[in-house]
Amino acid sequence: MPELNLVLLGPPGSGKGTQGERLQEDLRLPYYATGDILRAAVRDETELGRTAKEYMDRGDLVPDEVIVGVIAERIDSPEAADGFILDGFPRTEPQAEALAARLTELDRALTGVLLIDVDDEEVVRRLGGRRTCEENGHVFHVDFNPPRSEGVCDLDGSPLVVRDDDEPEVIRHRLEQYHAKTEPLVGYYDGQSLLRLIDGSPTPEAVGAEVERTLATIRLEADEAI
Ligand SMILES: [Zn+2]
Repeated sequence: MPELNLVLLGPPGSGKGTQGERLQEDLRLPYYATGDILRAAVRDETELGRTAKEYMDRGDLVPDEVIVGVIAERIDSPEAADGFILDGFPRTEPQAEALAARLTELDRALTGVLLIDVDDEEVVRRLGGRRTCEENGHVFHVDFNPPRSEGVCDLDGSPLVVRDDDEPEVIRHRLEQYHAKTEPLVGYYDGQSLLRLIDGSPTPEAVGAEVERTLATIRLEADEAI
């Protein structure tokens, strides 16, 4: 079986994270969500975490040099020998080039880039309604998954808050960053025939089915190329 080295692309709120976790289970590949890695570092107040927090609180991207090292280390570990799923990295063309260079050094290459796309209006609706449990991070949504009693976590009774990342002005800023810095990657990967477009607007189950079909196609093409 050839290795499956995947990148998930898409705006914040596109459901990439949900799809990444499904893929991790289905494919038994490590799922590297840069956001989670960074949030863990922030929570643990590591040196990387403190630096990253200043940027994240403003809705800005964490600088390349901080992230590239962390991701490269993970890709080069035994758990990623059969492949990996990257989410949240690369986010800019320089990062994509740094990743490609690192993979080449390891005698590897990306197998596919899945763009899970939704429009800005839908992003604002999805993220703006999110409420997160202060204690344990359980996530609710005012429209799609409301808690039984407003402002209180169903699971542990903790207060529900709007995470800094989900404040309206931060969402708008994140979208601007996405369009300015990440969207150029769509053309970059399309130029390398790696890009696969997936409509992220239907239910997570429907999007998941589309992702499965796409991966089946990628595998067929990889087999034919051998
Ligand atoms: Zn909770």
